[in-house]
This record gives sequence, structure tokens and C-alpha cells, in this order.
Amino acid sequence: DTPLFAGLSGDDVAVSFEFFPPKSAKMEETLWNTMTTLAPLAPRFVSVTYGAGGSTRERTHSTVARIIRETDVPAAAHLTCVNASKQEIREVAEQYWEAGVRHIVALRGDPPDDATGFVPHPEGYASAAELVKGLKDIAPFEISVAAYPETHPEADCPQADLDNLKRKLDAGADRAITQFFFSPDAYFRFSDAAAAAGIDAEIVPGILPVSNVAQTRKFSGMCGAQIPQWMDDLFEGLDDHPATRQLVAATVAAEMCRRLYAGGVRNFHFYTLNRADLSFAICHLLGMRAKSSALKEAAE
Ligand code: FAD
Repeated sequence: DTPLFAGLSGDDVAVSFEFFPPKSAKMEETLWNTMTTLAPLAPRFVSVTYGAGGSTRERTHSTVARIIRETDVPAAAHLTCVNASKQEIREVAEQYWEAGVRHIVALRGDPPDDATGFVPHPEGYASAAELVKGLKDIAPFEISVAAYPETHPEADCPQADLDNLKRKLDAGADRAITQFFFSPDAYFRFSDAAAAAGIDAEIVPGILPVSNVAQTRKFSGMCGAQIPQWMDDLFEGLDDHPATRQLVAATVAAEMCRRLYAGGVRNFHFYTLNRADLSFAICHLLGMRAKSSALKEAAE
């Protein structure tokens, strides 16, 4: 008999987790409980997003700083070009370096809700590729950038978007993390096209465990991700069954990770939405088990 989930020992899998900076004391407690659950999986890093227009600047900083102070998990800070001059970006980056941050997820960003289209700050960076180059001149950060298996909505064509990814990596980025997607084949096609374009950096799939399709659909249009019909079909009739939606979400995401693993993927980045359960369950099914508490003694 072949056991289910055979061959997934977790030993060859490395994961990272993405959080957003909490807005209240209660949300901070939730995030910290999430860290306590996920840290023992010894993630390669956890990352903290940067709100539209730099709106979360202080909160992103304090969240990353707390992770560095209280855990042994490497923490990455996201940083965008929106509404910031090069000098302001320099100040933020220098503060990160002083706080012990050695890894930045460098993004162009999107304008705040009421604006139409990205307009660079007159003294700022016009694209993520420029930001990567600027950051490398400030300090020897490790840098991750965004990639879009289903093409960024503003790109002229998939090839132009791939050229842009190559510019970001050539500017000094170390890896790409993808926008979420629900078609492993789209990811594999994209990886193959990237390899054919001479990209040899890792392209880590971004995994979004979906337990609410309607909510996901709201922001998928503007970020270059398709929601397939089968996803709607799977969640049909579950509006009033939140616990069942969670079980379906974990099952769908675990199956996607299993297929990616079968195709050779060993690194996964999880969009956790600050919740541990789904990502923890999927990592468990990938064979991962707790390695250490990863929380520093003083914090326990
Ligand atoms: P870029 O790589 O600069 O690309 C933007 C668009 O311009 C693309 O269509 C690209 O093809 C095109 N382009 C760029 N340069 C050129 C050129 N020279 N010629 C022609 N076309 C060009 N947003 C946030 O606000 N905060 C976050 O914390 C955040 N984290 C993210 C994390 C990940 C892993 C991902 C995938 C996305 C994240 N985003 C975040 C969203 C991101 O900011 C948006 O998707 C944004 O619209 C594009 O950012 P980028 O870094 O990909 O931009």
C-alpha cells in the first residue's frame, strides 16, 4: 500500500510566512499567537507588508523589530516606492538596517484606494527595479521582489513582465516571490519561461489558502490572479459554514502545494493573513514538524 502524502518528509521543504502589521492591540495578540505557532517550523524568514502609500510605515517597522527582538526567525520588511522620495526611502532603509533587518521585499506598490494608477513621486523611484538598485547602494540587504505567474495587470504582455522581473534580479534582487495563483500549471509555465529568459534565481510560489472566495475575488482583479470556476464550485453552498470553509481551504491549498512539490518546488511562501491554522496545517501535510520553539527565552 502507498501511504497518502507519501514521500513528503518535510526535510527538503523550506517555507516563509507573510504577515500584515496589526492595527490594534488585539490584532497584535493574534499575530503573536500566530508567530508562536509557526515559528517552531523554523521558517526561512517571515515578512511584514507595507501599507498603501506608506500608511503602515511605523507599524511595519515596530512589527519587524519585535520579531527580531523576540524570536530567532529572520524577519524581512516590505518597502514600496509609493509617495516617497529617494531620501525618505533611504531613511526608512537605514532605520531598518539599524534595527537589525537584513532582508527587504522591494516593491513598487499601488497608490492608495482613491487614486488612479501609479504616479512616481517627483523625487522618488519609478519602479521596483529602480528601488532594488537604490537599496543595494544603501546597504547590502538581501532582497526579494514580486513576480506574476499570470502577468501583472499593467504589463503590456507576459514577455514585457518577464523582462521587468529580469531587470529587478539584474539590479541585485536575490529571489522572486509570486503573487498568489490557483493553477500550478500557470506557475510551471511561468518558471519555464523565466528559465528560458535566463533567470536562474528562485521563484518562490506565493500560496494563499482561500476560505472566502468572494473576498479573494475583490482584490484578485487588480493583482493579476485568476480565480478559476472550480474554486467557486468547491465553495458553493458553504456561505453559512465557516468551519467547513476552513477545512476546504486547507485541503485545496495542500493539494496545490503537493502538486507543486511533485513538479520540483521545495520553497513555499504563505500569505497567512496573520492566521496560523491554515498555513500550519498545510506545512504539516507537507511533512514539516516543529524543530524548536524559536522564541527567545526572554520572550517566553
Ligand atoms: P514593478 O516590478 O515595478 O512592476 C509594475 C508594473 O510596471 C508591471 O506591470 C511591470 O511589468 C511594469 N514595468 C515596470 N518597469 C517597466 C519598464 N521599465 N517598462 C515597462 N513596464 C515596466 N504592495 C504593497 O503596497 N505593499 C506590500 O507590502 C506588498 N507586498 C507584496 C508582496 C508580494 C510577494 C507581491 C507579489 C506583491 C506585493 N504587493 C505589495 C503588491 C505590489 O506592490 C503591486 O502588485 C504593484 O502593482 C506592483 O509592484 P511590483 O513591485 O511588482 O512593481
